[in-house]
Amino acid sequence: MDNQINGKLVSDILYTELSNYLSNQTKEVNIVDISVGNDFGGFMYSKMKQKKITSKTGMKFESIHFEKIDKDELEEYIKYLNKAKATGIMLQLPLPSPLNKYEREILDLINPNKDIDGLTSVSAGKLITNSDTFIPCTALGIEVLLKTYNVNLTGKKVAIVNRSNIVGKPLTMLMLKNDATPIICHSKTKELYKITRNSDIVIAALNKKEFITEDYIKKGAVVIDVGVHKNEAGKTVGDVAFKEVSKKASLITPPTGGVGPMTICMLAYNSAKSVYGSEINEVLDTGIQKAKKCLNKAV
Ligand code: NAP
Repeated sequence: MDNQINGKLVSDILYTELSNYLSNQTKEVNIVDISVGNDFGGFMYSKMKQKKITSKTGMKFESIHFEKIDKDELEEYIKYLNKAKATGIMLQLPLPSPLNKYEREILDLINPNKDIDGLTSVSAGKLITNSDTFIPCTALGIEVLLKTYNVNLTGKKVAIVNRSNIVGKPLTMLMLKNDATPIICHSKTKELYKITRNSDIVIAALNKKEFITEDYIKKGAVVIDVGVHKNEAGKTVGDVAFKEVSKKASLITPPTGGVGPMTICMLAYNSAKSVYGSEINEVLDTGIQKAKKCLNKAV
């Protein structure tokens, strides 16, 4: 369908750009991704990211899993990584109980220069004040997709259905930076459909299977679906009822190959940025321009 946003294609072009840049550099990018607990979901996701990023860019990526670890040990490990040769450090969230009570404290031990997930208070503060920083990967990936598809954000109403630190809050800042008017919604928002139906762009990340139906969307809106679920038939679906909403949307991300590949690709860019600094912003901009050209040719 020609209104589908192809995050897989865009991410492939961006990986090529990054990989070409890195092939002319000498310093090593070294990522360490920590997961904790006996639910291995975080570890499996980490292995998936590892496979993608190492094969696409040649960066070093270690997935470290602790089935059991206490607060002091985890803190010591992060402090060790801050001094060791890891250039980027990530911690899979949510942490299991009782560590989850100390999530902020633990995250803030990560050296902000190695905070490739953009989740420390320092990175969040810099984002609010428009300083160059690590931006949480899903939010950054969505901004990049909108730019690549030439979605004009100036003065546009953007309904963001999520207020988490990894999606809704950073996206709000990015939308403001792009002169849009973000409206942040959450579980206590009343009459959500009235807000979304009045919005030019709807970003759904409410973690509820196919919740956003066509009644929530105005004709011609741009719809970005962040949710990932399996339906009864084992098929991947999102927070948006794709089949019906795609008939109304001018542009829409599909449940697979939309936001997901962009999240991992932005992690690769953030990881490179931990070593090469703001030069990587230029590599990303060049990649976006190349992806735009490629999409124009495909139309
Ligand atoms: P989360 O912390 O559970 O956030 C869900 C948000 O939706 C919360 O702000 C919640 O409001 C809001 N919400 C829940 N029910 C609602 C309702 N009926 N109406 C309006 N708002 C409602 O999840 P997250 O960690 O931010 O992630 C969001 C989703 O994105 C998850 O499905 C996750 O798996 C997915 N995800 C996908 C990617 C990707 O790359 N595709 C990356 C990251 C996350 P309250 O704050 O009031 O609870």
